[in-house]
Amino acid sequence: MIEIKNCQICNSTNFSKITETRDFSTSSEEFVIVKCQDCDFLFTNPRVKEENIGEYYKSDKYISHTNSNKGLFNFLYQTVRKYAIKTKTKLLLNSIGTKKHLDVGCGTGEFLNACNIKNIECIGIEPSEIARNKAIKNYDLDIRSETNLNQFNMDEFDSVSMWHVLEHVYDLNKTIEHLNRIIRNNGVLIIAVPNHKSLDAKKYKNYWAAWDVPIHVNHFCPKTITNLMSKYNFTLKNKIGMKFDSFYVSLLSSEYRSGRKQYIEGFLMGVISNISAMLGFTEYSSTIYIFKNKK
Ligand SMILES: [Zn+2]
Repeated sequence: MIEIKNCQICNSTNFSKITETRDFSTSSEEFVIVKCQDCDFLFTNPRVKEENIGEYYKSDKYISHTNSNKGLFNFLYQTVRKYAIKTKTKLLLNSIGTKKHLDVGCGTGEFLNACNIKNIECIGIEPSEIARNKAIKNYDLDIRSETNLNQFNMDEFDSVSMWHVLEHVYDLNKTIEHLNRIIRNNGVLIIAVPNHKSLDAKKYKNYWAAWDVPIHVNHFCPKTITNLMSKYNFTLKNKIGMKFDSFYVSLLSSEYRSGRKQYIEGFLMGVISNISAMLGFTEYSSTIYIFKNKK
């Protein structure tokens, strides 16, 4: 374990504990989430050392990397995912007009493949060997195992996406600094992360599945992610709620709390969380942020 002494966003040393939660999927170990008193950034502290975190990904519940279709839950998850990929691809094509795109943490490559079909030159990064090999085998894509962004040239990309990746990233400043370097001026960075200002987060508290410790080390809300990105010339252009995530997260959270999947409760909580976000009382369970790079 390693303890963070300075806030990665504002460098402050004043933190307060906001909750203690558990690794419900793999180890059952407990972890503390703290809040920076000066900028409100939430992060897991202390955290598992980066060289040991791989052990905590070895859950068969980590379905985004396996494409398993077994069971109703996984079937629904995969169906929603197909729909979500279409929406994401449209986002990239319509609002940005990208020619060359990088997807960091591309998993089994469905999103990249959808972009590739639309004649966008695509590169992916995926550290998981199983997922990477599937993406290469199924779609013949250029997928790198090397996660260090120093492998890319300055201004190489029109756009970069990180779908549910930044919450896993250990060195935020180094990563965003590189993103600023490799995305051209006026290029776009798309980041999707869970949002702890959602109603489902408030309801499930320490059982909220999107805390997902210890693999999630950063826990963002609109204010903190905007602060972080502004340090590296990125300005927020748009914010889109991910309406399916509230169902998935509520269902998992209800299972963590009660020991079994509560389909009705999960569904209802998903609906209520989305309505609350639509009305502006709270945020969506996960949010897509579109940042523009101004060098
Ligand atoms: Zn701070």
